Amino acid sequence: TDITTLLLSRIRDVADYPEPGVMFKDITPLLADPAAFTALTDALAEIAVRAEATKIVGLEARGFILGAPVAVRAGIGFIPVRKAGKLPGATLSQAYDLEYGSAEIEVHAEDLTAADRILVVDDVLATGGTAEASLRLIRRAGAEVAGVAVLMELGFLGGRGRLEPALAGAPLEAL
Ligand code: 5GP
Repeated sequence: TDITTLLLSRIRDVADYPEPGVMFKDITPLLADPAAFTALTDALAEIAVRAEATKIVGLEARGFILGAPVAVRAGIGFIPVRKAGKLPGATLSQAYDLEYGSAEIEVHAEDLTAADRILVVDDVLATGGTAEASLRLIRRAGAEVAGVAVLMELGFLGGRGRLEPALAGAPLEAL
């Protein structure tokens, strides 16, 4: 479709970043183009409205850039999920495995309630580890998962399969 062509044309492939052999998908040209950034925001907001989400969870750091305007556009709240040690209040944490070692993400526990239906927004779904950990956090906080929406899914990394149990039937939408 037209929007897919527009968005793809504004994503830059950067070879050997952050390490040799990796082709990094750089979204900064898309952010710098108001037509593309607006089209992306509108498309993600449409997903949020259709999913009847009550809040957006954005994943640090590019999920903040995409998720915040989506929340405003959809007329719902925004909650940041941050890397460990960055949030000042009482947090819930979730550790997850990386290729080498592990990582930990956190959310302000009181921002999520049992009445919430959460749409997780990020730029890229790669192995799915980050999104999976965020879904665990959301469920542990007692909230409902409305789905996961990303700009781009790197299908060859199998993130969709890894995410499936944590989604428990909720949709994963990749533009
Ligand atoms: P995962 O946990 O799915 O392996 O990695 C996804 C996380 O890493 C996302 O938060 C995403 O922002 C980042 N990421 C991984 N690969 C890329 C990439 O090629 N481009 C961009 N922009 N982000 C990536």
